Amino acid sequence: MGEVTIALAGNPNSGKTTLFNLLTGARQHVGNYPGITVEKREGYLKVGDTALRLVDLPGTYSLTAYSLEELVARNFLVEEKPSLVVDVIDATNLERHMYLAVQFMELGVPLLLALNMMDEVKKKGIEIDIKKLSSTLRCPVVPMIAKKGVGKKELIQKMVECSCATPNWEPLSISYGPDLDPVIEEMIEVIKENQFLVSLYPSRWIALKYLEMDEDILKKGRELDEETSSLLEKIVEKVTSHCESTLNTVPEAIIADYRFGFIHSLLKGVIKRRFDHNRLDISDQIDKILTHKFLGPIFMLLVLYLMFKATFAFGNYPLELIQLFFSFLSNLATTYLPPGFFRSLVVSGIIDGVGGVMSFLPLIMIMFFILAFLEDSGYMARMAYMLDRVFRTFGLHGYSVMPFIISGGIPGGCAVPGIMATRTLRGPKEKIATLLTAPFFSCGAKVPVFLLLTAAFFPNSGDRVLFILTVGAWIVALLVAKLLRSTIITGESTPFVMELPPYRLPTFKGLLIHTWERAWQYLKKAGTVILLISIIIWACMSFPTPPKDLIKPIDNQINQIKANIAKTKDKNNIANFKKKIEVLSAKKKEIALTHSLAGRIGIMLEGLTKFAGFDWKTNIALVGGIAAKEVIISTLGTAYSLGEVNTEHASSLQARIANDPTWNKIKAISFMVFVLLYSPCFISIVTIAQESSWKWGIFSMVFNTVFAFCISIGIYQLGIRFF
Ligand code: GDP
Ligand code: MG
Repeated sequence: MGEVTIALAGNPNSGKTTLFNLLTGARQHVGNYPGITVEKREGYLKVGDTALRLVDLPGTYSLTAYSLEELVARNFLVEEKPSLVVDVIDATNLERHMYLAVQFMELGVPLLLALNMMDEVKKKGIEIDIKKLSSTLRCPVVPMIAKKGVGKKELIQKMVECSCATPNWEPLSISYGPDLDPVIEEMIEVIKENQFLVSLYPSRWIALKYLEMDEDILKKGRELDEETSSLLEKIVEKVTSHCESTLNTVPEAIIADYRFGFIHSLLKGVIKRRFDHNRLDISDQIDKILTHKFLGPIFMLLVLYLMFKATFAFGNYPLELIQLFFSFLSNLATTYLPPGFFRSLVVSGIIDGVGGVMSFLPLIMIMFFILAFLEDSGYMARMAYMLDRVFRTFGLHGYSVMPFIISGGIPGGCAVPGIMATRTLRGPKEKIATLLTAPFFSCGAKVPVFLLLTAAFFPNSGDRVLFILTVGAWIVALLVAKLLRSTIITGESTPFVMELPPYRLPTFKGLLIHTWERAWQYLKKAGTVILLISIIIWACMSFPTPPKDLIKPIDNQINQIKANIAKTKDKNNIANFKKKIEVLSAKKKEIALTHSLAGRIGIMLEGLTKFAGFDWKTNIALVGGIAAKEVIISTLGTAYSLGEVNTEHASSLQARIANDPTWNKIKAISFMVFVLLYSPCFISIVTIAQESSWKWGIFSMVFNTVFAFCISIGIYQLGIRFF
């Protein structure tokens, strides 16, 4: 066998030299690294016919080029690519010493941890779960007392095993939070595209070093490829000033913070202190309550509930203002534009479409403000941490809870901000599973449909029906997630070492900037596409127009009544006439609707949908509901106004449906379930497409509809047979 190089690394005073001497005995020599005065010790250890060349690297705390020692250690690793790095760790200070170990892992070197000073550990009453540490890190860990030679045999055996196996450099990737992660991804793309330094370092690592403004890497980069380097530097500059203004800190500090957070969570359950209660830091103290087995979930539910309440309580005022503004615009357009095609386009296509987009804005901003608070303060990570086990069973992630809640996990939410909240999910598979299932919940526009039908068919049990639908939505979302994750979105979940960053009080300015950034993204991205689709949908619901001879008699009737109004002075009579005009206009709308493309589709579908109990009227409402769920109620209103022309008092929609012979309880249930589960509204579909791809946007539309239809058929067919 040949010779393999093994590097000994570690913080100063971890016992590296002691270990080096123990392993090499007299077979060592001391020199200097080429050109510099840092001491270089080398020695040999023979095991069987393998010669292990051991190099004792200078002690360092990190791998960023802060000092000559660190630079030497790092250059040795990337230039000589040793088969193995033995990181000597003072186990009494595991957390601090792991900082270096994690950086080795990020660099991707094959690593072995020598947990030294185990005698001190024992004296201090600390227990370390070596097996757990080794399995979470996926690297061998050998406990040692170098001073006494304890653990030498096992260490040598492991060293031979590891260094003889084909060395695999597999860099670990840690999340650095919502501010840096996307930037790192962007930089990796630039780095990969230009093959920038990639022969020496992993691309993620290069990105991190640029963010840390590592002088050595910057210098190397500039020499090698000025253009790419300055491109990366620009990205760094931008995010640095962003971090300075929002979080009042620099990327380097954020990176260190998250690295420690990562280590902190890594070591949860690994270190057990038997009699040392005073060493817990503040975050730990807080976590004792906030992630407590029983208190934790209770507090979490409270936070979720309050957050939800706050969003819709505060969101409603600006929402109403915006709606007022757009109805003002509508009136303006109706007054000043001549009736006809163009006015209809402006009012129903453009103003309604843009208004729809804008009216989500306050909700989105408030939701994102709270979300940014939970994220920046560090509580979000705890929530995900507590829920992860449950969600994981269904192929989701702890972070999936937020999108679910926002989408209507508590009835009245909205899928658009819910889908946008899936950004906190890092694993692409879990993210897609989450954003595809989030639209199953009871959003604010579905709730009125449920209320209407329960009032008509299950009076006095509205809340119970709503409760069952809510619980049902949760069950369906989780089961469908499971189904998707075990069929078309298979793939391993993101390895779960939960980063628990320290608690921090976010700054108000930082929160505002975070909120605005996301809101602006929504406006910019969704706004343009939504306007376009809104116009298309408007066209589907208004064209082709009905033949003139169908409309003409109604118009004549209306004109007749108008003439009558002009003649009478009796207030009661005028009110009656006005009501009649209303009914006639509704009838006109209804005729227009049945002739439109959307209406024709509704009628055409009757042959199929009758198996779920739906007739052409409900079909039109459901087709319209894809535009926006609010349309379901308004379309039902239009469709069921027929035949009311001669009644004195037009009865409420609820009464009309309750008295309609084509409706019954089973149809109502089937319809409610379908509304709950079928295609997301088109703003949601666009948002899904923006957050993933159009493939998934269209998928959600088709899949959810087919899925909902199957369930509704099941309900209806069983229902009419057995009840
Ligand atoms: P280096 O700076 O990493 O090279 O560390 P050294 O090998 O010089 O050791 C630093 C100190 O730790 C010395 O005083 C060693 O005697 C002591 N030391 C090394 N290994 C152990 C050990 O396993 N247990 C204890 N208690 N002390 C140790
Ligand atoms: Mg030393």
